[in-house]
Amino acid sequence: MNAFQMHLIEKQAMKLLNSLSTSKDEKVLEAVRGLIETTLTEAEVPQFIIEDVLALKDRQQLEPLLSVVKENVQPFPEVSEQVLKRLWKKEKKLKAPKVANPQVTFVAWDDSSTRTRFFVYEQEGELTGVKGILSTEQIKGVCALCRQHQSVSLFTTKEKGDVEGTYKKYSQYICADIEKCEKGIDSEEKLYSFMETVKPRA
Ligand SMILES: [Zn+2]
Repeated sequence: MNAFQMHLIEKQAMKLLNSLSTSKDEKVLEAVRGLIETTLTEAEVPQFIIEDVLALKDRQQLEPLLSVVKENVQPFPEVSEQVLKRLWKKEKKLKAPKVANPQVTFVAWDDSSTRTRFFVYEQEGELTGVKGILSTEQIKGVCALCRQHQSVSLFTTKEKGDVEGTYKKYSQYICADIEKCEKGIDSEEKLYSFMETVKPRA
């Protein structure tokens, strides 16, 4: 399994637990379970995990289930200084980020001295990087990356324009909080479609 599936499983499990706490109607609960089963099957979650999710009765069963899921998730590849050198040839002295939890959909970190946010993610087996300036101003809004309602800041990437000395810019509002944002990514499509909108093509 990958971390996209892990986040999806957690969201679907929470959905069922919330329904269990608000409804006693077996028909309603069966319908909820049916939707969850379809969603997890479409995301190619292993059958034994789907069965465990559908069998959830209370919140105490959630943590043990999630730790089984986590054990089965492939860790994110190491983001070493060599990787960073390859991704950003012109950047000097990029330090490898500290990754406390390798079961993630992407690795991101902020360089506060330059207000730069760096993203490293995996696409077709290759590590890819996107960096941009993150404004210090925060507003309430929908994040263009995880699509959750959060405190968001404007993220701007740029590439060289057709005319020497000019630039094209791409801006999107994204979560100020990297961890919340990362947990909100429950499909590869969310990540890749966002990166398409901000990734310089040069
Ligand atoms: Zn976000």
